Amino acid sequence: MNRCAIVWFRQDLRLHDNEALSTALRMGEDILPVYIFDERIFQDETRFGFRKTGKFRAQFIIESVLDLRENLRKIGSDLIVRLGQPEEILSELAREHKASWVICNRERTQEEVMVQDALETRLWGFGIELIYTRGKMLYHTQDLPLPVQHTPDFFFQFRKENENITPVREPILAPSAIPPLPANLEPGEVPSLERLGYEPILYNEQADMIFKGGETVALQRLKYYLWEKNLASTYKETRNELFGSDNSSRFSPWLAQGCLSPKLIYQELKKYEKERVSNESTYWLFFELLWRDFFRLMGKKHGNKIFLKGGVQSKSQKHLKNNRELFSIWAEGKTGVPFIDANMRQLNAVGWMSNRGRMNVASFLVRELKVNWQMGAEYFESLLLDYDPCSNWGNWNYVAGVGSDPREDRVFNILTQAKTYDPQGDFVRTWCHELANVPPDKIHRPDLLTASERNEYGVGDYPKAIVKIEKWAV
Ligand SMILES: Cc1cc2nc3c(=O)[nH]c(=O)nc-3n(C[C@H](O)[C@H](O)[C@H](O)COP(=O)(O)OP(=O)(O)OC[C@H]3O[C@@H](n4cnc5c(N)ncnc54)[C@H](O)[C@@H]3O)c2cc1C
Repeated sequence: MNRCAIVWFRQDLRLHDNEALSTALRMGEDILPVYIFDERIFQDETRFGFRKTGKFRAQFIIESVLDLRENLRKIGSDLIVRLGQPEEILSELAREHKASWVICNRERTQEEVMVQDALETRLWGFGIELIYTRGKMLYHTQDLPLPVQHTPDFFFQFRKENENITPVREPILAPSAIPPLPANLEPGEVPSLERLGYEPILYNEQADMIFKGGETVALQRLKYYLWEKNLASTYKETRNELFGSDNSSRFSPWLAQGCLSPKLIYQELKKYEKERVSNESTYWLFFELLWRDFFRLMGKKHGNKIFLKGGVQSKSQKHLKNNRELFSIWAEGKTGVPFIDANMRQLNAVGWMSNRGRMNVASFLVRELKVNWQMGAEYFESLLLDYDPCSNWGNWNYVAGVGSDPREDRVFNILTQAKTYDPQGDFVRTWCHELANVPPDKIHRPDLLTASERNEYGVGDYPKAIVKIEKWAV
């Protein structure tokens, strides 16, 4: 009798460099690739009442699953798609098909671990084994010089200890053929956005990029960024821009859903350095991918602490309040500080914000408004296209000064940031329509506009600043 392996696709929606899939192909003769839309992820709310997955990411996941199915069909297989609870559906499927193994990439954060643990317990009841594989990080944990528990808490130390020593393994090649599904097995429909309970998406014409989910587009983006447009060679100079899809790689949404492997990015980057150019920019792209690994390792090392108010340091944060009123003003982009409002409105409209924007709005919420940073982190969790538990909560820990590697004294001067990164005010003008006619030298200081200027520029009901912008003027 054929041995059957179920591959449970999670945040690894790709065929290339997929350890779960390649393990299944090595071990089993019958392969059942499965994706489950976990209803809790799409329907539940966070502690502060935001929908866990906002519509942009939901759409991105749907597209990624459709693409995965398409790619599996091209090599003879299919993707079984269900909606419900993975632990129930997978254990039932495994029992029905007398599977020997369910194989999946291991997740390390609380909610994901609860699901995989529940599945494992159910499978034990049927004598079926759950096999965990890896594939999230650039580095393989086994190759790290120190055990995870001894990972340095400071990024620069982590980087120093790894970057020239730890190898990045070759990505696993995508399979060229997979046996077909059993004839009696109904693959199932990929649910629409509506079926998952979302309103249709109206794409915003101000968006500088429409992200489409899936491995196919992810690989195109990699090719475009490195080979077609040579953008990696100038990354360090452009990465802090607020707007413009070519300024940073924009790999993050595909990395978060696993449509793109970091090891493949690394491999292509090394090839690019050999064949085109190797400079500070190409190094910096690798450097940023190291941050991603670092936060993942911090998540592993410190566990649920990354989600707690006191963060990894268990530091008292009593001064930060769950102030819903201030929070809503921030979230809606109505603080009267144009740089903050523009970034928040962009996030609300398209599910995306630049790294520079994220650092500033996070700092503003915590340092200026003294609002509990967890509310901001949950809001990002809901809305970000590229939401990744370790990167999101790790970065919020960091900005709030409760992370493993805090910069406690780091308070952004929002006005200086605005003038540096949006000198002409174009970014603000794009998202704050009330300020569309304000000239560059005044756009970041609406508090200084006279009544007649407000009238002349049509500033209308753009809100009065909730903090004194004056204090940042230097
Ligand atoms: C408050 C806050 C929350 C964030 N939440 C997330 C999140 O949920 N998911 C997420 O992927 N990133 C998050 N980031 C990190 C960073 O903002 C995004 O990774 C980056 O903006 C994505 O754009 P890009 O792909 O063009 O990045 P690039 O600048 O092109 O960088 C290349 C890749 O490196 C990684 N990277 C870059 N910066 C960071 C960083 N600071 N931390 C971790 N990885 C990094 C990403 O995978 C990124 O795709 C957050 C940052 C802050 C300050």
